[in-house]
Amino acid sequence: MPQNIHLTFSKPLLTWFRQHGRHDLPWQQPRDAYRVWLSEIMLQQTQVQTVIPYFERFLQAFPNLRTLAQAPQDEVLHQWTGLGYYARARNLHKAAQILVEQHKAEFPQNHSSLLALPGIGPSTAAAILAQAFNLPNAILDGNVKRVLTRFYAISGWPGKKQIENQLWDISRKHTPNHNAADYTQAIMDLGATVCTRSKPHCKTCPLQTHCMADQQGNPGDYPTPKKRARLPVRKTTMLLLQNNKGEILLQQRPAPGIWGNLWSLPEMEQTDNAAEISRQRFACEIETSVELSAFRHTFSHFHLDIQPIHCIVSTHTQCVMDSGSQVWYKCDPADKRGLPGPVKKLLEATLEKNP
Ligand code: SF4
Repeated sequence: MPQNIHLTFSKPLLTWFRQHGRHDLPWQQPRDAYRVWLSEIMLQQTQVQTVIPYFERFLQAFPNLRTLAQAPQDEVLHQWTGLGYYARARNLHKAAQILVEQHKAEFPQNHSSLLALPGIGPSTAAAILAQAFNLPNAILDGNVKRVLTRFYAISGWPGKKQIENQLWDISRKHTPNHNAADYTQAIMDLGATVCTRSKPHCKTCPLQTHCMADQQGNPGDYPTPKKRARLPVRKTTMLLLQNNKGEILLQQRPAPGIWGNLWSLPEMEQTDNAAEISRQRFACEIETSVELSAFRHTFSHFHLDIQPIHCIVSTHTQCVMDSGSQVWYKCDPADKRGLPGPVKKLLEATLEKNP
C-alpha cells in the first residue's frame, strides 16, 4: 500500500469529484436517508439509467417512510414491476414498517441498527451513514471493489471471504474522517464513469499515477471473475386464459420462492394438455388455443424457458371467479398489483392483439 493513502488516493479523487463527479442524480437533491436508502437498494444489481425512472415513480407513490410503511404490499410490488429481484421490494416494505414502529420513522445513525433491518447489508448501511449523515463509514459495492482491486492489483474473486476481508480493510483505511459523503460518492462515480468494467479511461483517471493495474497494463484482468458453472435450464408452459370480456386469468404466487407474492399466469408442465388443465383447475372450457413464441428469462441461478399458450375460453362455461388468490385482469392502470417483468410484457402484447 502506498505510504500516504490520502495523497495518493482520497485527495486526487475528491479533487476530481468536484469537477467531474455526478452531482445531479435524483437521490442527491436532497440527499436524505430515505432517498439514499431507496437508491442504494434499487442500484443493487441494476444500472443507474434503469433505476432513475423507477426511483422517481416510487418516490411519487411513496414520498416518505410512513407512506411506504402504510401501503399494501401489492402496491409496492406494482411500483417495482420490471426491476427484478423482488425480494428487495418486500424487504424495503418490511424495513419501512420496522422503522415506523420501532424508530419513530427515523433512520438510526449507527451501523448495527441499520444492519438489523431487512435487506440492508454492511455496504448499504455504510452508504446511508456516509451519504445521508456524513459519518465516515467504509463502503464496498461493485464499483469500489473494481477500483480497489485494480489500484492494488489484487487477484482472486472479490466474493471470496479472504479477498473480501482484504478489500474491506483497504476501504476502511481509505475512507477519510471528514467529507465522507463526497468521498463515498466520488469512489462510486469513478467506478461508474472512469474505472468502468470494460475499457477503463485510465488516461483521465485521477488515480493513474499510483495504479498498479495501469502500470502492469492489465486493468481488464481485475477484478477476477467468479468461475461460473453453466446455469441449469428449467421449462414451463404459461396459460393465457382469456374470457369474453378480454380479461386474462392471473394467480398470486406463494410468498416464498421465485416471484413471491407477485401475480402471474397459471403454469403447467410441457407434457400437460391445456384443455384438460383449464377444465380441472379453473372449470374453463377452451374454444381455441394458439402457441405463442417461446422465450427465455434468466434468473441469477437458472434459465427459465417459457412456452406461452393463448386460450380463448368458451362463453358457455362458468369459470373460476375472482378470489383472494386469482383474478381476471386487463392491464388497467388503476389495478395496482405486482407482476413479473416477462409476464407483464406477455400480457401487454396479448391484450394489444386481442383486446
Ligand atoms: S488508472 Fe485505470 S485501472 Fe487504475 S483506477 Fe484509474 S481507471 Fe481504474
